Amino acid sequence: MSSTLRSAVRLSVATDTRIPEHPARHRPADLFGKDVFGMDAMREHLPAPVFKRLEKAAHEGKSLAEGDADIVAVAMKDWAIERGATHYTHWFQPMTGSTAEKHDAFLAPASGGRMINEFSGKMLIKGEPDASSFPSGGIRSTFEARGYTAWDPTSPAFLMENTCGKTLYIPSIFLSYTGESLDRKTPLLRSLEAVSTQALRVLRLFGNATATKVNAMVGAEQEYFLVDSRYLSLRDDLMLAGRTVYGAKPSKGQELEDHYFGTISPRVLAFMAEVEERMLALGIPARTRHNEVAPGQFELAPMFEAANLATDHNMLTMEILRTTAGRHGFACLLHEKPFAGVNGSGKHNNWSLCDSEGNNLLEPGTTPANNAQFLIFLAAILRAVHKHAVTLRLGTIGAGNDHRLGANEAPPAIISIFLGEPLTNVLKAIIDGNGKGAGEWNGGIMRVGVTSLPPLPKDISDRNRTSPFAFTGNKFEFRAVGSSQSIAPANIALNAAVACALDDIATELESAVAEGLSLNEAVQGLLVRLFKEHMPIVFNGNGYSDEWQEEAARRGLPNFKDTVSVLEHYSDPDVMAVFTRTSVLSEREQLARQEILLETYIRAVHVETKLASALGRSVILPVAVKYLETTAKMLQLARAVGTENTQPAEESYYNRVRGHVFGLLAALDALDACHEKLDAMSGTKERAVAARDCLLPLMRECRAHADALEGITDDADWPLPKYNELLWQH
Ligand code: ADP
Ligand code: MG
Repeated sequence: MSSTLRSAVRLSVATDTRIPEHPARHRPADLFGKDVFGMDAMREHLPAPVFKRLEKAAHEGKSLAEGDADIVAVAMKDWAIERGATHYTHWFQPMTGSTAEKHDAFLAPASGGRMINEFSGKMLIKGEPDASSFPSGGIRSTFEARGYTAWDPTSPAFLMENTCGKTLYIPSIFLSYTGESLDRKTPLLRSLEAVSTQALRVLRLFGNATATKVNAMVGAEQEYFLVDSRYLSLRDDLMLAGRTVYGAKPSKGQELEDHYFGTISPRVLAFMAEVEERMLALGIPARTRHNEVAPGQFELAPMFEAANLATDHNMLTMEILRTTAGRHGFACLLHEKPFAGVNGSGKHNNWSLCDSEGNNLLEPGTTPANNAQFLIFLAAILRAVHKHAVTLRLGTIGAGNDHRLGANEAPPAIISIFLGEPLTNVLKAIIDGNGKGAGEWNGGIMRVGVTSLPPLPKDISDRNRTSPFAFTGNKFEFRAVGSSQSIAPANIALNAAVACALDDIATELESAVAEGLSLNEAVQGLLVRLFKEHMPIVFNGNGYSDEWQEEAARRGLPNFKDTVSVLEHYSDPDVMAVFTRTSVLSEREQLARQEILLETYIRAVHVETKLASALGRSVILPVAVKYLETTAKMLQLARAVGTENTQPAEESYYNRVRGHVFGLLAALDALDACHEKLDAMSGTKERAVAARDCLLPLMRECRAHADALEGITDDADWPLPKYNELLWQH
């Protein structure tokens, strides 16, 4: 038996399968929101008039009067301290992609040298973290280190328990000294306001005088991998980059599809149960769990809720997944592509619009009048996605997601819309009516406001998993988002693009009606034009096919295959206009973001390629060189004992090993030289292009040689846990 460390770990994983003790089970409904200072807790802890004003402010997205803020702060502090909290923190989402927090004790000096628990309205509403190290893209010079955090009252405060007690978390936005956004939450809130304002204009045209707001609703399905943490500790690439930069294909991958929806192992189930309990206590409506396509891959889906809450909740969900995994001896990998050769992980962002009276505006209507409204919102979405595809694509960028999009396991990088045949036929019937108010539909006439929509089957879209943006009966599923990403950028893009389209539509309908046209006539005419203009964005076929790549090019749809190529277009005037027109981000804020995102890309690639270099040189190469010695001895032996014609096999074996050892060495040298070249370059764009075009291909070359060596070298000596171990042991 081999005595390597890897084998020892393997034995330990196989024999020690203890499942951590699980706390007493709660019924989900009893647990829900236990640690949240939500509307119920506030109603209970606040004087009725203050609660009413707070509810109204949260509903309208306005801030609280200072006097009220003090009362809310005291109630929030008492609630938190009663439950054992010692500290509070403003919790925000800077451009790092993660969340940030700085804990302060509930403590203030009082007379007589005493200390008291203090927390005022001012502290609740505004914090001033010394924030000079957060990325600002040049918005703030280092000497103006100050940033402000401010409570977002549309997202309730909550308690988080850690090893040393409980802390009150106050969801916040993060601004610079000059009031510019340095985070992802501020533009999200602005985009929600923009889409609400424009959607209300359209609703008013259709005679709805009572709705006060339109909410974007989001349900984010989260995919992830679990790996035994004992194996993880032997792999620096997984530990530091969340992705294997080396590793040959496993003997068994996902070919048999026996993992998808398979029985969940007891150890994984215990992990999932604890994740769900923690989510429920924080008011996150966890609902669905199952095994995913790849071995070791799983999915979790919450119930949908207002987009800003869904965004905070998804950030918390990722945090809970990571920390709970540790307690169960797992590492949770949220990276988009932890393993080559098996599926990566995404995040399906289910999105719809819902008015303040609870009506889903994307639900096909049951009456002809409702249909007209549904079709107008549908037309707005087609227009938004067609005209602003670059903005949407920008909402999904990232070095990790580049490994996944367009790789036949996730949607292509081309943004298109799947509607399904029945709904597409409705659109065609309207176009064929040619503006005269008539179109053939099932032998009848398809007239907006007069004809009923044919029944549309709800599950039509599940037959097409290859579309990046699919209509699924009463919502759209944006499937291009990466598993590790915040859902904020995708939803900011979506809300802003749809707000622009709704603005165009409302303006046109308002003026047609002002000129004396009936609403139905105006709608009919507009729908014909919009459906005709934007039909090229509709694609119901196979998004993975080569034909689609060609067809999309003919249709003029952009096809940005990677982060850098699309990021270069962030500063195009028509792209920036989407956010300036909707007041989501100013030009300056957008240029800062372009800089930050390019820099983030470079850093992500750098970490991986530095790991490839270090592991290649100091872990893989020494083992491979030793094995080369063995094969050289084999060849010598063969020459010593064999006749001339017994040598070719030995010689070719030796040459194969030798080829890969020296191939790896040459690729590593080239990779290191490229690092040096890149370090000496100054422009961010140039460095990002070089990272993509020089570092990434060289890293792939190192990997090709190393993975080949993994398949030849003595298994007992191979220093890194292999895919078979990482993927199949749960
Ligand atoms: P599907 O089978 O199409 O994936 P599910 O019912 O499983 O649909 O829902 C997937 C996700 O979509 C869940 O998170 C769910 O809460 C969410 N969802 C359902 N309806 C809506 C809606 N109207 N708006 C936004 N998200 C929704
Ligand atoms: Mg789904």
